Amino acid sequence: MDEFEIIRRYFARRAADDSVRVGIGDDGAVMTPAPGRELVVVVDTLVAGVHYPKDLSAADVGYRAVEVNLSDIAAMAGRPRWATLALTLSDSEPEWLQGFAAGLFESAARFGVTLAGGDTTRGEQTVISIHIIGDVEPDAYLTRSGAKAGDLVFVTGTPGDAAAGLALLTGSVDRTAGDEDARRFLVQRFARPVARVAFGAAIGRFASAAIDVSDGLFADTRKLLDASGAGGRIELESLPLSAAIRGVCGEERARRLALTGGDDYELCFTADPGREDDVRAAAGRLDLAVTRIGTVDDSGRLAVTENGERVEFEDNGYRHFQADR
Ligand code: ADP
Ligand code: MG
Repeated sequence: MDEFEIIRRYFARRAADDSVRVGIGDDGAVMTPAPGRELVVVVDTLVAGVHYPKDLSAADVGYRAVEVNLSDIAAMAGRPRWATLALTLSDSEPEWLQGFAAGLFESAARFGVTLAGGDTTRGEQTVISIHIIGDVEPDAYLTRSGAKAGDLVFVTGTPGDAAAGLALLTGSVDRTAGDEDARRFLVQRFARPVARVAFGAAIGRFASAAIDVSDGLFADTRKLLDASGAGGRIELESLPLSAAIRGVCGEERARRLALTGGDDYELCFTADPGREDDVRAAAGRLDLAVTRIGTVDDSGRLAVTENGERVEFEDNGYRHFQADR
């Protein structure tokens, strides 16, 4: 199968979206932006064996490749609209391509994203790079840099689950720990992350800053605070842990994964305490768990506390948990 056959067979779907004036098949794509909205552009690359285990199903790889980009759009409070796909393939196995395209289009369909173009090449390793272009009303986008001392820090969902799922896939967590439903849930959280797109857009006008959690809650919260020129603290006892991660990993490892595990694609965001009701209302409307996990201060660094006491914690794992328990 040559590249043109691959494009034609798996990726060239007729755009349902008439904002795409020229889609797949020409030298470039032409789109009509919505009047009065700003564009939000994101790109994320997945390398086989680096960002996902090589034996992850093709459909999961395709789904995940889109969701990680949707998650960046969510963190900007944007609305995703169009995508391009740069695909480097180590082989052109029809079964893999079929599954990959199915997963990719399944995720793209969640928010009506149209694949408008791409590039297909052969290489030694499979590399998937997706761009998404979205839009947002002027002044309704979020950045990392708006957090102020006194703001509250929130996170959506139950961080750590995806890292626990990956650990189950790679065998670094005992594959018989906990019950089977819990293990399946955790693996699914890695294989099929759910970008918080609707929630990001819902908080765009009143949250002060946001970031999506891809590298771990601690590291990403610190990035947000650094960008804001602020500090803060995360309260360990407030971390929302799923019953699944507790059951499979135990409380201590679950907390460590929640703080340092990547791949959650949840949103970490800040808001003025006067906006907490708005945060709760948006979460309620979308039936999404949102938890207050800390506060912003002007210390210039991010601390971790447990019941008010500072816990010694480094990004590469905390040392004092055992001593503290
Ligand atoms: P060119 O040689 O002009 O760069 P290509 O032959 O690479 O064009 O691509 C032909 C068309 O197919 C273009 O419209 C391109 O956007 C699209 N395309 C190529 N690869 C993909 C892909 N993996 N997914 C979606 N569209 C693709
Ligand atoms: Mg060309």
